[in-house]
Amino acid sequence: MNAIPVIAIHGGAGTIVRAALKSDAEARYHAALAEILRAVERLLADGGSALDAVTEAVRLLENCPLFNAGHGAVFTSAGTHELDASIMDGATLEAGAVSCVTRLKNPVLAARRVLDVSEHVMFTAAGAEAFAAAQGLEFVEPSYFHTDARYEQWQKARGASGTMLDHDAATLAAGEDDPLDPAKKFGTVGAVALDAHGHLAAATSTGGMTNKQIGRVGDAPMIGAGCYANDATCAVSTTGTGEMFMRMLAAYDVAAQMEYRGLPLEVAARDVVMNKLPRIDGRGGLIAVDAKGNVTLPFNTEGMYRGFARVGEQPFTAIYRT
Ligand code: ASP
Repeated sequence: MNAIPVIAIHGGAGTIVRAALKSDAEARYHAALAEILRAVERLLADGGSALDAVTEAVRLLENCPLFNAGHGAVFTSAGTHELDASIMDGATLEAGAVSCVTRLKNPVLAARRVLDVSEHVMFTAAGAEAFAAAQGLEFVEPSYFHTDARYEQWQKARGASGTMLDHDAATLAAGEDDPLDPAKKFGTVGAVALDAHGHLAAATSTGGMTNKQIGRVGDAPMIGAGCYANDATCAVSTTGTGEMFMRMLAAYDVAAQMEYRGLPLEVAARDVVMNKLPRIDGRGGLIAVDAKGNVTLPFNTEGMYRGFARVGEQPFTAIYRT
């Protein structure tokens, strides 16, 4: 018998702003996560595939301005937005990704179309947008991605030096409204799912890091770094300091440790997040599910917006360590 279908999501990891904690801000994040989990739980209960579940979860997270992906994405050093997304099907090992797109409303839908219809795995920048246009996907004006909170973050980040993770930069700006210290949090979104047929899938989407250089691509659209799924092991989506997750092939490393070392999901995921990434100053976390329906949500920061829902059960959501 197959395990009960489950969806898990994240909305970034970071440091808690104790002084600035506001219960209504916290409640807003919990409510947004729970609403998305309930919607995707219904999709899975109706027999929807894991691939459709992660596509829909990330589309909803992209549309929510609380998270750094789609509407609500962070600013580049040029005051623009460059978005990255990826998706992988654990049943077939097919994958799709786009990077550096600037006018696509939902980058995850473009990644999904790449997976569905293209012989390639990743398209970037103008080529990605040409592909998406040919697929009839929705385009928006760049101003759609502008939110005042992210603009303020960017202004602060420009005054400081270098790039900043979304949640790090947000602290510098207007942390009062964000339970995680925006100066120390990462803002990618992602989803992993197991469906009723025992298939796994993962998807990840991001605006990247505040004040990043034009053309910088992080781990989120890289299969094996920010996203990975294989029915034989697990599905993984990450958030954090992208360069370190790329160097560690963080998402794939969880699957590889399960396959080569025979480790259970939770042990493999903890090793990557708590041991391997910190050795190269990698900060952040990941969400993962295996074919038995085990879910793990480890992070090495103080908090991570996260949650999961098994079909027929109430969603679990959390921000801090429990
Ligand atoms: N991993 C993302 C990147 O490096 C950032 C994040 O998770 O917020 O683009």
